[in-house]
Amino acid sequence: MAITTTELAAQILAAHASNSEMTTDELLAELAQIHASLKALEKGETAPAANRPPLTIKEAFKKNEVTCMICGKGGMKTLTRHLNQIHHMKPREYRKQFGIPTAQSLSAKSYTEARKALAQERGLADNLAKAREIRMANIASRKAASVKSSVKGKAAKTQK
Ligand SMILES: [Zn+2]
Repeated sequence: MAITTTELAAQILAAHASNSEMTTDELLAELAQIHASLKALEKGETAPAANRPPLTIKEAFKKNEVTCMICGKGGMKTLTRHLNQIHHMKPREYRKQFGIPTAQSLSAKSYTEARKALAQERGLADNLAKAREIRMANIASRKAASVKSSVKGKAAKTQK
């Protein structure tokens, strides 16, 4: 048979009181405190929500991770998907609720930078491919030109 929260609180208090001299008021205060803590545990709360300070924007958006300011989930690279899947929220609504400036990306800085670098790399690869094409075209035209000029040169030599 499961014991009730009140019985459990009384048992904890009795164990505590037997080791220390407490006034009735102190005992009652402690009983209330233990009872509240046990109730919170029963509900699956590890700590009362009011004790958790809200995250500042600076705390929520770090270089390598972003933390959800609604549920406190951290270690994410970007919030957009989490907001959509867990909170059914659009980034615009999230920004409005927490007063996040539009200049603040909803992704971790390192993630944004990595994406940017990747895009630049792709751009660079495209540019390289283009440059190679131009070079090949130049070589082809130079070959054609050198053939022409050697023909001209030969023609010039034969004229002398
Ligand atoms: Zn969340």
